[in-house]
Amino acid sequence: MLGKIRKKMIAAEIGPIKQVETVVCPICERVIPKPQMDAHHLIPKSKGGKSTEYLHRICHRQIHALFNETALARKLNTAESLKEHPDMQRFIAWVKTKPDSFYQRTSKSDRIKKSD
Ligand SMILES: [Zn+2]
Ligand SMILES: [Zn+2]
Repeated sequence: MLGKIRKKMIAAEIGPIKQVETVVCPICERVIPKPQMDAHHLIPKSKGGKSTEYLHRICHRQIHALFNETALARKLNTAESLKEHPDMQRFIAWVKTKPDSFYQRTSKSDRIKKSD
């Protein structure tokens, strides 16, 4: 029974791999479509941070546009503290009115990418 064997093999292959489930952005609490998924270091890598959190690309970009790495490492190193910041609250209120996959192209001025 070829069919049976093949099925078994496929099951074994898929088994240990964790299926990608819906990821919700801890900043704006909307679902993150895969192409918009960005990993953010809650404590910047340059400050020894290791753990990352998935955010919308646009939420991620906003964080780095508003805060430098020192501020992120010292104070804004959790999604909660980021969300409490008035500038982020303004952004969250705005981005919530947009589709999950919304992404505004980076304007020239903030394209000068700070290392992440
Ligand atoms: Zn980041
Ligand atoms: Zn988001």
